[in-house]
Amino acid sequence: MREIGTVKLIQPQLINQIKPNKKNQDKVKVGPLLVSILVPLLLLLPVQINVKPPMILAERFWHGGGWVEIFALEIYSVVLTYLILYKEKIKKMRLRYWLFFSVIFFLQFFLGILVNEKFLMSGKLHLPVPALIVAGPIYRGGGPLFMLILLLSTIAILGPAWCSHLCYIGAWDGFASSRKKGRPRPFSRRFAITFRYLMLVSVFIVAFVMNRLGVKALTATLFAAMFGLVELALMYLISWRLGYMFHCTTFCPIGSLVTLLSKFYPARIRIDHSTCTLCNACTVSCRYDALRAEDIKKGKAGWNCTLCGDCLDSCHADSIYLSFFGSKKNAWPYYIATVIGVHTVFLALARL
Ligand code: SF4
Ligand code: SF4
Ligand code: SF4
Repeated sequence: MREIGTVKLIQPQLINQIKPNKKNQDKVKVGPLLVSILVPLLLLLPVQINVKPPMILAERFWHGGGWVEIFALEIYSVVLTYLILYKEKIKKMRLRYWLFFSVIFFLQFFLGILVNEKFLMSGKLHLPVPALIVAGPIYRGGGPLFMLILLLSTIAILGPAWCSHLCYIGAWDGFASSRKKGRPRPFSRRFAITFRYLMLVSVFIVAFVMNRLGVKALTATLFAAMFGLVELALMYLISWRLGYMFHCTTFCPIGSLVTLLSKFYPARIRIDHSTCTLCNACTVSCRYDALRAEDIKKGKAGWNCTLCGDCLDSCHADSIYLSFFGSKKNAWPYYIATVIGVHTVFLALARL
């Protein structure tokens, strides 16, 4: 351990030695596992029974295939929840299943374009750029609001988890930031907040102006594609090198919207100062720049926390916890079980 000023810092590589994985000794609780089964069941059953043409992919290829797919996804959901709660660290698992979702999402996108339209949701292509979730309807002056409704419903149920478990693009920023080991090196928070909300306002204004000027669809699409390329460049040039999700925390307008609206959600990451040693070791686990020394001193995660949960397994004193309506009891197991349930539904239904 070394000291910088009055703040003690633990070398990142020592963290796993400080906190051995004690999960194998935890008693398995049925409640959260049940939630991870019920959430996909309750959301996918009505879709399988009522929606025509079928939205569940396997049903599109053979009659009854949807039921088999739902069964397989139920197993996936409960096993993943079990592993996260009782076997593995969330930090290790989260990026894997988030990337898995993104790969499936883009695989269906390319198969839909190149092989068979059945892999697409509507058959009408949209660019997979998150900013279009709000910019698209403003530019079109209405039109399909499916993605916007999906985003808002997700925020209502899970708060900011869209940006740590469900977004098809954010997974790649998470991947880029995870390439750099050790302490993240974020820009100043004031810069991040200012720039981020400027981006949000700019997207509203640009989409509105394009609507008023009657900019052609092809030009708007090219503009959106360029925006997407800039996003990828930022992930590679900045997030990868500085070890935190620069694109998601500073650039993406949808991330700003998610952060803003999630302030009404009743879950927060808190730090128990009666046990916290202010060692700042947990800072290393947060790629969203939400656990700076000042946040730890305040006893709560910073403005940008997405409730990803990566920090929960990182504290040697078990001082970090999820609070839901001010209560710590069982908050995390039920929250993550619900998140995994929704993630499973996204695997089944999210495609362009
Ligand atoms: S900030 Fe944007 S790209 Fe990142 S996860 Fe959120 S919506 Fe997706
Ligand atoms: S919450 Fe845990 S890891 Fe973070 S500063 Fe406190 S004791 Fe250290
Ligand atoms: S504070 Fe913890 S839960 Fe919040 S974003 Fe950082 S690592 Fe994730």
